[in-house]
Amino acid sequence: DLKAKYREKLVSGGWMGTMNLTEPQAGSDLAALRARAEPVGDGSYRIFGQKIFITYGEHDFTDNIIHLVLARLPDAPAGTRGISLFLVPKFLVGDDGALGARNDVFCSGLEHKLGIHASPTCTMIYGDGFQGAKPGAIGWLIGEENKGLACMFTMMNNARLCVGMQGVAVAEAATQKAIAYANERRQGKAASYTGTGMAPIVHHPDVQRNLLTMKALTQTARAISYSCAHAIDMARVSAGDEAAHWRDRANLLTPLAKAFSTDIGVEIASLGLQVHGGMGFIEETGAAAFYRDARIAPIYEGTNGIQAIDLVMRKLPLGGGDHVHGYIAELADMAAAVRTSNLQGFGRTADALDAALGDLSEATRFLQKLAAEGRADEALAGATPYLRLISLAAGGAYLARGALADQGRIPLCRFFAENLLGEVSALRARVIDGAESLAAAGKTLISA
Ligand SMILES: Cc1cc2nc3c(=O)[nH]c(=O)nc-3n(C[C@H](O)[C@H](O)[C@H](O)COP(=O)(O)OP(=O)(O)OC[C@H]3O[C@@H](n4cnc5c(N)ncnc54)[C@H](O)[C@@H]3O)c2cc1C
Repeated sequence: DLKAKYREKLVSGGWMGTMNLTEPQAGSDLAALRARAEPVGDGSYRIFGQKIFITYGEHDFTDNIIHLVLARLPDAPAGTRGISLFLVPKFLVGDDGALGARNDVFCSGLEHKLGIHASPTCTMIYGDGFQGAKPGAIGWLIGEENKGLACMFTMMNNARLCVGMQGVAVAEAATQKAIAYANERRQGKAASYTGTGMAPIVHHPDVQRNLLTMKALTQTARAISYSCAHAIDMARVSAGDEAAHWRDRANLLTPLAKAFSTDIGVEIASLGLQVHGGMGFIEETGAAAFYRDARIAPIYEGTNGIQAIDLVMRKLPLGGGDHVHGYIAELADMAAAVRTSNLQGFGRTADALDAALGDLSEATRFLQKLAAEGRADEALAGATPYLRLISLAAGGAYLARGALADQGRIPLCRFFAENLLGEVSALRARVIDGAESLAAAGKTLISA
């Protein structure tokens, strides 16, 4: 019934949807969630509670807004096992699809944010007797009782990939703008410039380094995100063991697609601002807006720190710990193809990729061993460096595969391998040797 009534309008964009997870005391830790749902007895529920930071919680772009809300039933177990998912429309919908009475859910405030100013971020109050209504927002259960988090994850996995694409998109936009500006803006002299007057700044090696870093990182993040999307599609169209393989692959790549893409989105927007010089800090170029807009993506949809934990604790064990090594073997095949191609333009790419993939194997086995020995804290200390390590190594292999298919891409692939991939060895050292000093120095921060 819910699908028949709401889905078409949600998919067509006739009505907009929201995800209501976060509460003041429950952000990363949804076990602390307090919103409650009371059964009415006619199949519906009354929802009470406060949600914060709800994207598009209130607006007048569409006639109706369909809120998907996590709340607890009266007899629900504590923690994440006692969370259910409810559909709560802003306006109740009749059997004929016509909009009826206003539901008891309202926006009590809009957040004033660093960026994404076109996106209303709302505090939502459910069940406060809005405009004299009987208290309790009317809602309907989606899926089974106490299985709300699993239902929400259907959406969250998709949303993680979409937020990753926000990182890629802002990176691409920042890169295009910076390349255009660097070709227009003239300052100083450059050996490679034979024209008259000052050289366009794109001739300066340091500016080229910034622009190539932007371009290469954007392409690595895009390739990882597309690989993840490809795995999701393959899981959908295959069956049995093959479907399970692609599901594992999508699960492994989702935290990379979300966290690496959004981390580099911020880095690239910052580099783009740098290429603009002082004008980057001035609003009229638009470079600053990319920087501000990019900054939220590592935070929402599960902070990037939480993505790294997910990668190390839940994704590395997939397939009894073998799935990730199968993936690394596929990346190694891409590196081997560069070596056997014998194409001069690749320079030292094959060597750099071999070294990076060796570091990746070593760091992966190290973290898997810690997890198997129950040394979770030590493994978690290395989680964020590991996520970047695997993303850079995978990204390098994807750039190589792209360059083998289209030789016009070889120079960027080589630049990445010989200028940026060296970071992987430092990241391996952080994963393997960093935990003890982090724990010792970490103690000095704690006041309570
Ligand atoms: C603009 C915007 C839009 C949003 N849209 C929505 C929305 O539509 N729907 C919705 O439900 N929510 C939304 N959110 C909320 C967002 O998902 C949360 O802000 C996010 O999940 C983090 O929760 P928190 O803010 O409570 O941070 P906290 O959970 O307090 O985290 C603070 C810091 O501690 C770290 N941390 C926390 N726990 C751990 C741990 N166990 N291990 C290691 N590190 C940890 C985090 O990584 C972070 O760096 C939005 C937020 C913003 C700012």
